[in-house]
Amino acid sequence: MNILVINAGSSSVKYQLFNMKQETVLAKGRVERIGMETAILVHEPAGKSDVSEVSEILEHTSAIRRVLDILVSKDHGVLDSIDQIDAVGHRVVHGGESFKNSVLVDEDVKKEIRRLFDLAPLHNPAHMLGITAVEVNMPGVPQAVVFDTAFHQTMPSHAYLYPVPMALYRKHKVRRYGFHGTSHKYVSERAAKFLGRPLEQLKLITCHIGNGCSCAAVLGGVSVDTSMGLTPLEGLMMGTRSGDLDPAIVPYAMAKEDLTLSEISSMLNKHSGLQAISGLSSDMREIVEAMEAGDKNAALAFDMYEYRIRKYIGAYAAAMNGVDAIVFTAGVGENSEVLRKKVCQQLTYLGIELDEERNRSGRGTEKAITTEASSVQVLVIPTNEEWMIAMDTYSLVQAD
Ligand code: AMP
Repeated sequence: MNILVINAGSSSVKYQLFNMKQETVLAKGRVERIGMETAILVHEPAGKSDVSEVSEILEHTSAIRRVLDILVSKDHGVLDSIDQIDAVGHRVVHGGESFKNSVLVDEDVKKEIRRLFDLAPLHNPAHMLGITAVEVNMPGVPQAVVFDTAFHQTMPSHAYLYPVPMALYRKHKVRRYGFHGTSHKYVSERAAKFLGRPLEQLKLITCHIGNGCSCAAVLGGVSVDTSMGLTPLEGLMMGTRSGDLDPAIVPYAMAKEDLTLSEISSMLNKHSGLQAISGLSSDMREIVEAMEAGDKNAALAFDMYEYRIRKYIGAYAAAMNGVDAIVFTAGVGENSEVLRKKVCQQLTYLGIELDEERNRSGRGTEKAITTEASSVQVLVIPTNEEWMIAMDTYSLVQAD
């Protein structure tokens, strides 16, 4: 069975085509700048050379058409016919309280995703465009939706409620939802396999540290708390997002700087985090490089970023009354040995003993970066959200 995984954004579509039996990626790629005359399709077929094409692609239906065309093209294709795609799985950011698991798309599911547009105005409408574009181009092919929020739907009410008037929750569903759920779930399952222990018996803290950053407390395979909230703005300091701050800063800054709601929202989402403190970049590679060259603002940005990760690890060890393993994943978590080292060096109270050589070597592989004697294992597990989406889609289609 071949499954096409789609991550549709407002002006982009990322895709990966999997052969489920062989557990291989047949092709992956992306269309960017949808809506423009100079849209670009970058296609990476397995066993053939990569290709990029610039052309006018004005909306998502044409973008998906281009992807399907290239998947079956003579020179760059990996399939004989589109009929060889058995199902499509979509990443959907917000499933609200309605979706605790991945589901097959039907009219009710689409209605519910639309109802959730308010909670994820930048993401869910774009995902719906992706679903509709597949319907138009591949009528009758089953589609599944896999939600970033679903894994965290197991949080208890004392973790997901905010201490504000309950009317906000009852009337408007204001609560913690959490995001990156597909990644937290994937690395939790991989961590249990790596440790050779049943997931049901483990207390894990998973740290998804990429452009967006979140930690999760995973108790017995179930998310019991996570750092992102109603939106992906809460929690850790990120590339351009502030993460946690005193909510009183919002009206205060608005009054002092004469900002509108949309300006303050843009400030906190797009002009804060590493970018704001370093005054340099939102990219951890550039921050580390500048810090090592003696840039004080870059060093401050790094310290704040690292400190906040460490505080969440402490909080979640407390939330679960202990921790067996801490997992680092995503762009920064998988690649920045400097960040992992700094975090681990300050967690000796948990019995963590870093193995510097292990921390340095084996990039891109699953590994422990602690010594055998360390009482808590620290792991690096490359995330693979696309594979998880393909697996969920596969299971749903098989069960249908
Ligand atoms: P993601 O959102 O998971 O794709 O992560 C993207 C981020 O990972 C980039 O913005 C970089 O800050 C970070 N990153 C990628 N490679 C490295 C590296 N070698 N060292 C430090 N950070 C990295």
